[in-house]
Amino acid sequence: MNGDRDQRRTWCRVYMWRHIALASNLWKRHNLREFLLMTDLDQAALDNLAQRAVEAARNSYSPYSHFRVGAALQLSNGEIVTGTNVENVSYGLTICAERSALVSAVSQFGPDIRVEAVAVVNLNDAASPPCGACRQMLSEFVLPDAPVTFPASEGARIMTFSELMPLAFEMKLK
Ligand code: ZN
Repeated sequence: MNGDRDQRRTWCRVYMWRHIALASNLWKRHNLREFLLMTDLDQAALDNLAQRAVEAARNSYSPYSHFRVGAALQLSNGEIVTGTNVENVSYGLTICAERSALVSAVSQFGPDIRVEAVAVVNLNDAASPPCGACRQMLSEFVLPDAPVTFPASEGARIMTFSELMPLAFEMKLK
């Protein structure tokens, strides 16, 4: 019973997410079809990625903020890896869903992974763009043209990773 209701709420959220996204200025700027042509992914793949992020968010350990976040990474090897936020009583040791997913992906598939798309959601109906620390961590693995979807204050947004993180720190050894 609860499962059915959860499932309906999830699809409702994903449906709203898509339609809010279509209505947003960003979607107007980046025509959906043109945006998806830049990737190998279609709308169904992005919806599926968001749905996987929602499932991950249900596992959130967030007894302090009650802010439940999920992230899903589409890897170039075809796999999807998810993560959720794991808080700590010290607060500062808390890890975000995006980094949680990333360390899981590297742990499972090794250091050569490449991320083709990222979906971030939360179960609090609030804005949650990836934080600076997560953007920096993701920058070593996410392709520049990879679409990143996340809830923003005006609704769901989609940006390429290079738009989201234009000047990542990098170390030139030579
Ligand atoms: Zn973060």
